[in-house]
Amino acid sequence: MSLTLNTDIAIIGGGIAGLWLNAQLRQRGFNTLLIEHNTLGGGQSVKSQGIIHGGAKYALHGALTGSSEAIADMPKRWRQALAGAGEVDLTGVRVLSDAHYLWSPGSIAGNLTSFFASKAMRGRVDQVKGQDLPPALQHKDFKGRVYRLAELVLDVPNLIERLAKLADDSLLHAQKITPRYQDGQLLGVQADAYSINAQRVVCCAGRGNQDLLKAFDLTQPEQQLRPLHMVVAKGPALLPLYAHCLGGGSKPRVTVTTHPTADGQWAWYLGGNLAEADGVARSETEQIKAAQAEMAQLLPWVEHRNTQWATLRVDRAEPVQSGLARPDNAFVTEQGKLLIGWPTKLALAPDFTDRVLKLLARDHIQPSATQNYPDLPRPRIASPVWETLFN
Ligand code: FAD
Repeated sequence: MSLTLNTDIAIIGGGIAGLWLNAQLRQRGFNTLLIEHNTLGGGQSVKSQGIIHGGAKYALHGALTGSSEAIADMPKRWRQALAGAGEVDLTGVRVLSDAHYLWSPGSIAGNLTSFFASKAMRGRVDQVKGQDLPPALQHKDFKGRVYRLAELVLDVPNLIERLAKLADDSLLHAQKITPRYQDGQLLGVQADAYSINAQRVVCCAGRGNQDLLKAFDLTQPEQQLRPLHMVVAKGPALLPLYAHCLGGGSKPRVTVTTHPTADGQWAWYLGGNLAEADGVARSETEQIKAAQAEMAQLLPWVEHRNTQWATLRVDRAEPVQSGLARPDNAFVTEQGKLLIGWPTKLALAPDFTDRVLKLLARDHIQPSATQNYPDLPRPRIASPVWETLFN
């Protein structure tokens, strides 16, 4: 039997984009239903490194790109949210590191000179030494230079939990989602047994947007997938490190974040250039060997006898760009009452929501009378990869 639910905005996809948008819409008095077909955060969001970029990484080649400009505000907006004074109340969400670091292991002065000369970096980096170094680098054999960036690293599973709490009764777990039309007009969606009427439908289903577009009989916007082959190392001797380790090029040689595991250890999550093209071409065994060699060269004092290693293949889903380039901003487009988009970065979830809110305001979409939803099937929250890969 079909049950009808009325809402203002139906959101499809419970990653960071959908959950952040949902929280902000609810705060503004909108009725919302967020429909997730799997687990909350289980697409890219919980597999992300949780860095709230401010654009520093993108200024490495010295140029102030669109990317560095657009993203520069994000750390401030997230900090306000974490302090309970922002657009979404993230009080209580665990901050893994108050700063991300830029770590130059050798002497690649040329690279750093242009980096510090770039307008994007003025006043945003300080060199750190001794006791102020990240714990993993506090060793007598450490050589190199380390700079503190004003970028946070968040515990993403904890963030998703908080946003799920703010979503309250607006979450719905449903496997099959199809559009509902009347006289050629989009009425809402059918989500399993639930017929949902909505003023607007927002698809923010990460790589799932592609299939949803097909279901809505649309060919635009096109999606690109950028594959990554990440490495996770878990062990009793690992210490926290949140850093882009610089190589010779414009991309970090390796980007390391560190995550607490349920059994009281730390897991290093390794991305950056290691996880890109060459890394994607490697088998799992080859990729683990490459990561072990990289970390042995960079941190030779770390004892790895009891470290466990695993890899994870995951795609970044984004609107198509020429040459598979990285998009600069969040992206939202519309087809009548349907909005479709990708935040393109976890850090850009506020930018994604700004873009949706702007379109709603333009169309004078207002909250309707408050709806109380029955006890709906709820999606679970995804487990972090450092908990699932070693079982
Ligand atoms: P997702 O998190 O993929 O969520 C989409 C959701 O939609 C999923 O839960 C999925 O199950 C659901 N869904 C799909 N199809 C359907 C359907 N038909 N019906 C219902 N639900 C559906 N960004 C940063 O800012 N900082 C970082 O440090 C960072 N590190 C990253 C590291 C890696 C390895 C990767 C892959 C990405 C990283 N990113 C980072 C990018 C960031 O993770 C993504 O841009 C962001 O998480 C995308 O969020 P999303 O909500 O669009 O998608």
